Amino acid sequence: MSALTELYQQIALCHKCDIAKLRTKVVPGEGAENAEIMFIGEAPGWHEDQQGRPFVGQAGQFLDRLLASINLDRRQVYIANVIKCRPPDNRDPLPIEIQNCSSWLDSQITLIHPKMIVTLGRYSMARYFPGKTISKIHGTAVKRDNVVYYAMYHPAAALHQQSLKQAIEADMLKILQLLAETKNVQEEKPKPQQLNMFEV
Ligand code: URA
Repeated sequence: MSALTELYQQIALCHKCDIAKLRTKVVPGEGAENAEIMFIGEAPGWHEDQQGRPFVGQAGQFLDRLLASINLDRRQVYIANVIKCRPPDNRDPLPIEIQNCSSWLDSQITLIHPKMIVTLGRYSMARYFPGKTISKIHGTAVKRDNVVYYAMYHPAAALHQQSLKQAIEADMLKILQLLAETKNVQEEKPKPQQLNMFEV
């Protein structure tokens, strides 16, 4: 059994959050174990909760079309979410749920070891671009420790708004080139260390 499959079994046992009681299926993520590109969405919706697979509803079909626009299909990439259980009525994930689920996502990233992490929407963006606004940074990339982080709109948001749809389609088209040129993506400068007030 692969380390990733073992991880899925552990995730399926997780009951750190109240919403775990409500789930039909946990949705850990899926795709190539050696994927170079990892997409991170927000949370499972109704269809995902039914099937235990990420991005299989309408937003997922749009994501599939976006991938096809760069000659990829979902089996060649890895797709996960910030949280693995469906929030009731598709409400936004709570900070505590994001925090509880964070180590599962970290473990997935460690095992897959992608060259590029593409954030889909605000919640995964906040993990890598804290304090930033999606309308300003979508379609931009930073590199840290040899991983390129690239922010995109969430496909569900883009599906229903023409300007966002054009933006997400254009941002998708940049991915392969960015991946090919990861050497040329500028490494983010480390932030100056915060002064510790209690240090003399
Ligand atoms: N939206 C997400 O963020 N993730 C899914 O898996 C489906 C819809």
